[in-house]
Amino acid sequence: MFGAAVPSTTVQLRQVHYKPVKISHGRLRGTPTDSSHDPMQRALFLVLIFIAPVAVFAGMVTVDRIYGAPGRGWDYVVTVLLPPTDNGGNLPQILGPADASRPLVVIDAGHGGRDPGAGAGAVKEKQLTLAMAIALRDELLRGGGVRVALTRDDDRFLVLSDRYNIARRLGADLFISIHADSTETGTGARGATVYTLSDRGSNETAERMAARENAADEVNGIRLEAQTDAVNATLVDLSQRLANSRSEELASLILREGEGRLPFRERTGQSGAFVVLKSPDVPSVLFESGYINNPEDLARLNSVAGRTAIAEVLGKAIRVYFARQAVPQIGT
Ligand SMILES: [Zn+2]
Repeated sequence: MFGAAVPSTTVQLRQVHYKPVKISHGRLRGTPTDSSHDPMQRALFLVLIFIAPVAVFAGMVTVDRIYGAPGRGWDYVVTVLLPPTDNGGNLPQILGPADASRPLVVIDAGHGGRDPGAGAGAVKEKQLTLAMAIALRDELLRGGGVRVALTRDDDRFLVLSDRYNIARRLGADLFISIHADSTETGTGARGATVYTLSDRGSNETAERMAARENAADEVNGIRLEAQTDAVNATLVDLSQRLANSRSEELASLILREGEGRLPFRERTGQSGAFVVLKSPDVPSVLFESGYINNPEDLARLNSVAGRTAIAEVLGKAIRVYFARQAVPQIGT
């Protein structure tokens, strides 16, 4: 109609149907669930917005006061990741009488697992210590009246603090850690040595324990967490002194009972800052049974007869120790 010379474009449209929107009283109606225009609910919403953060903050402060955080009050906090232990935090079984009033001895076989201890030859310290610990366990159970637990009864690795913590958690009356030494200079040294914790180690323990604010530890039945640091230090120190004097008593009994039965390198008790002896409330002794690189000692420790002699001497000393504890001492 317009002629062929006129340029054009074509837009195709579909048919659209319009529906009238009903507006009542001049404003849009909201959905039934929309309450933003309800004055009461809006006030509640505003209160929640302001109160919720304050409540969360107050809760955090309260939890922090109750449980605290490691390192509070210190300028630096060093966290050392300990190697994982093989026991998964489980406590060992207590053997012997079911009567919980009977004294409990925790025997610690030194080393184990990936830590073989001393010994350059085929026999490693960890094997000898386990065999001696089992011999002492059997000796104590045979005599009766004493409960016994081993920190390990197979070839597994335990960190040092796990060892004395097992004794503490079980409420042990005695802890004895068994080892076999070696010397780097020749094979002349031989014989057993009995160690207790030195005074220097005792003070370190007292300081470390006192520094653990919010700790739920108990020392001789007194909860530390309710005390001030100064009181804590005193309590731990007193407890450690009592444990140390008992440890020294057991050490001297081992030396006395072993007279003529076991070779001793030192005829008096020795002391050192052994970590494994650092229970503040469990009398603890470390028994170095002999020198693994001394042929005579090795033959003795690696024989049933040699281990039986050690078990009998330690067992007798432990029984005399408990008998003394049971009878009140009169005079000196
Ligand atoms: Zn050792």
